[in-house]
Amino acid sequence: MNDTSFTPTDNPMMTGILGRCPQCQQGHLFDGYLKLAPRCEVCGLDYSFADPADGPAFFAMTIAAVPALAFGVWFQTSFGLPLWVHVVTTVPLTILCCMALLRPLKGWLVCSQYFHKAEEGTIDREWHADAARKSQKTDGAT
Ligand SMILES: [Zn+2]
Repeated sequence: MNDTSFTPTDNPMMTGILGRCPQCQQGHLFDGYLKLAPRCEVCGLDYSFADPADGPAFFAMTIAAVPALAFGVWFQTSFGLPLWVHVVTTVPLTILCCMALLRPLKGWLVCSQYFHKAEEGTIDREWHADAARKSQKTDGAT
């Protein structure tokens, strides 16, 4: 596939929320609810670079916790209900909020990873060897 015939995203948040490919913005990012497709069906971008890890889960729980807790507290203080009522209302509400947020957050993080060319850190041994040689030259001159 010719990568230059596509317009890469300049808005990874919106592209990811829509679940689109960050390279062509036309193909689908997901193959299922949360499973990433192996590659884009339009431009052929290999999604093996994508590794959002537990980032989507962390953000989904963090974002959903505040309104879910507010709802639970309001529900309890307003009606004085027994605990089992929260098991069938507040807990499912929290889970639904998290589930609703997971996919757009995962898409956003994957598209941001592509957009910012983020990858696992590596050690540039060549750079360190050059720095050591320059340091030895400087030490020898003084
Ligand atoms: Zn694509």
